[in-house]
Amino acid sequence: MKIYIAYTGGTIGMVPSNQGLIPDAAFADHLTQHLNDADELTHEFVIEGYPSLIDSSNATGKDWQTIARDIEGRWHEFDAFIVLHGTDTMAYTAAALSFMFANSDKPIIVTGSQVPMYKVRTDAMINVMGAISACEELSGEKNSNGVFLFFAGRLIEGDRAHKAHTSDWQAFSSPNCPERGVLGIDWRWRSTETVKPPMSIQIPDMKEGVVTILPVFPGVQVAHWQGLLNESVRGAVLLSYGAGNAPDKDPALLALLKTATDRGVVIVNVSQCGAGSVAAGAYAAGSALVKAGVISGKDMTYEAAFVKLSFLIGLDLSSEDIKNHFL
Ligand code: ASP
Repeated sequence: MKIYIAYTGGTIGMVPSNQGLIPDAAFADHLTQHLNDADELTHEFVIEGYPSLIDSSNATGKDWQTIARDIEGRWHEFDAFIVLHGTDTMAYTAAALSFMFANSDKPIIVTGSQVPMYKVRTDAMINVMGAISACEELSGEKNSNGVFLFFAGRLIEGDRAHKAHTSDWQAFSSPNCPERGVLGIDWRWRSTETVKPPMSIQIPDMKEGVVTILPVFPGVQVAHWQGLLNESVRGAVLLSYGAGNAPDKDPALLALLKTATDRGVVIVNVSQCGAGSVAAGAYAAGSALVKAGVISGKDMTYEAAFVKLSFLIGLDLSSEDIKNHFL
């Protein structure tokens, strides 16, 4: 099997500096050496470090686009793709790749680590080897490919992951969807339907600053949201309470949302609970949002909702078409 591994930055390949950990330009060579030394591995690997390695907290939609175009450019040359990435925004990048390579017929796996590879007590190789094993299994007997985030033994659907812990080995959860596979000594798989729609690759020119997040909190006022809903914004994720509620006793707040949706901003309601689904209109406080034109993000993570809006806006779809993709 021919596997392409891209190092984009992130803790996995970081080394100490005067300012703290920074990505190491020589990491791709170190990893190549490590994998070449592992005689059990019979695959052919090509490992490349990006010219500008980043801490993933600096990542934007442009970085998702760069990674996707890199994979697309090598699509016919490789059987599987692994993206080594920082954990801070790994869930966003995995979601972006899952929209850009919809129903991918080759494995694309995003992973990284909590502790850099140069340290003795590191999860780096465990995660890299797990991602390689997932590539083998997915394109072998299981013949069930797609885009995933692999971390600490969990193979999570790319658009379902959430960074849930700052320091546990198990840094990611899959709040509303069972993992596709769990790796202990052996894999345990969740069965999926075998007939998938044909894959499609769509990599838009990602625009920056067009999607925002609107937090709901006790005492939230129109002034808090006004700047966030500025003229360049075309999409927003509303981080609501519980099953999709926000204060409904402040007419100015609701009027601001209505003015935005009337001018074509797509506002998607996702719960700040972190798990469970938005039940639009179950409470009067939620119905007010529906009247203001806010649509339900159902059980999506806020990361996936943010990325899906960014992706669809990048495709230059109309507001109506974007809303239809959330039905
Ligand atoms: N700040 C780092 C990053 O996201 C954290 C990590 O990789 O775990 O790049």
